[in-house]
This record gives sequence, structure tokens and C-alpha cells, in this order.
Amino acid sequence: MPELPEVESVLRYLRDGKPTLIGRSVRAVNIVWSGSISAGYGDILKAGLYGAKFAAIRRHGKYLIFSLDQPGEPGKSLYLIVHLRMTGRLYLVSHDNAVERHTRLSLMLDEGLALRFDDPRKFGRIWLVQNPGEVICGLGPDALTVAYEYFAGAFSERRRQIKPLLLDQSFVAGIGNIYADESLFRAGIHPQTSTESLQEVDVERLYRSIRDVLSEAVDAQGANIDGVFKEGGFIVTVYGRTGRACPLCGTAIAKIRVGQRGTHFCPSCQHLQIAGKLNS
Ligand SMILES: [Zn+2]
Repeated sequence: MPELPEVESVLRYLRDGKPTLIGRSVRAVNIVWSGSISAGYGDILKAGLYGAKFAAIRRHGKYLIFSLDQPGEPGKSLYLIVHLRMTGRLYLVSHDNAVERHTRLSLMLDEGLALRFDDPRKFGRIWLVQNPGEVICGLGPDALTVAYEYFAGAFSERRRQIKPLLLDQSFVAGIGNIYADESLFRAGIHPQTSTESLQEVDVERLYRSIRDVLSEAVDAQGANIDGVFKEGGFIVTVYGRTGRACPLCGTAIAKIRVGQRGTHFCPSCQHLQIAGKLNS
């Protein structure tokens, strides 16, 4: 599943690539599978996108937010919002290309281009709104730019295991299973540690580890994981590496379930902290 760095790569490809999506107007809307459009937004999407021009792209957590200028309505923007979920993919092609087997939405653009949304597993969702808050209102700050004061403050309010907290998009947005495991390894924190047992120095180290891991993965254009992602260059150290040697100490990477999610960690480098003391 694409997380913050992979979604950021999609954003940069569409915005900075040649050709770019920015400045292109929508000439036709082909909803190939209506289930990809969030319930109730199908007719709005068809009517609203026709003639609209892509002006900017931003990202919040794992959501892509495209601003479009509306024809004849200067200063009024529409927002196309896309969540890729498990297998969603956005790309530009020549609009002569036939739609692929898993194409769910195709927008014919000017200059002979098309923006396609493919999604084999069909979990991805698309919205068209006048106010992005309609869709992303429940999200916490973006994990790449979250302020330390907010991050640290949340620990005193929430007594939870650390891994499920990092995955909670209402706390910070953008971290999924891969980067939660990688960040906790980098910080040397056991994924089942309870938030109230973390000292301030641990919280600071975790905050830095998250920022470092996400920035490195963004720079590398996402993760490179056997059978999951091929495009990126970020090499994971614990995620999906059960039984392989920890790069720091050689101990076999373990896999456990934490909050229903498969969780990878080094039993030697990541000790379980009990409130007020270490158990090892
Ligand atoms: Zn280790």
C-alpha cells in the first residue's frame, strides 16, 4: 500500500514530469468503474470536471488534492481528491492508448493526453468537492511537516501502544505499516511500548526518526520492497524481513501482530519499555 513517500512521488511525477498535468484542461470524463468514485460523487465528477483546468497538486498524508480552475468562474476552485489505498495508480498517457484492464477512470485532456486511474484491487477512492475539508477533515497534521510540540503533546493525552498510534491517521497522516516499522526500528523503540512509558528523550528520538525515514524515502522516490513496490529506491531494514539479520546487531528480525497488523522489529535493538523502567 502506498504511504506518504510513494504518494509524494506520484505528486511529483504528475506535477514536475514531462509532460506535466499542470495547465491541462479536461475534455472528457470516462468513469469506467463507478465504484472507484466515492458514493454520491459520480454525477458531480462528470459535470464538474468537464472543462476544468488542473492548477496545482498538494498532498495531505496519503491523499492527493488536485486544485482545478473552473471555466468562466475565475477564483473559484474545485478539488479532485484521490486516495490510492492498496493498488491505485495515477499516470499520464497519450489518449489514443486503449484503457487498461484495471483502468477505473480516464480523463481525456488537451494536447492529446489522458490521466488514468488504474486500481486492480478496487479499494482506491475519488471525490470532487468545493471544500477539501469535506473529505480530509478527520486527518491529523501531515507526518512530514508535523510540529514537534503537537507530536509530543499528543503522547501525554493518549495512553496507547505506540505502533497503533503511529498508524492512526487522526494523530498524524501519512504513516502506514512500512514506515511505522522502519521509524520504530530507527528510534530503537519496541512497537508494543505504551505511550505513557516513553520518556521525553524517546519521543524526541522517535519524532526525528519519523522525519528522517520519511524524508529519505521521499528523496528515494519511495520504497523498494520485493513483491510490493518496484519503483522506489528506499531500502527497508525490518519491514517484511522476518528471520533476516538485523543490520545493526545480527539478531533475526521478528514478526508479531500489534493492533491486528503484522509488525516487524529487532528483539535486541528494540526493547519493550515498561512505565518508568526498562525491562532489560
Ligand atoms: Zn538489532
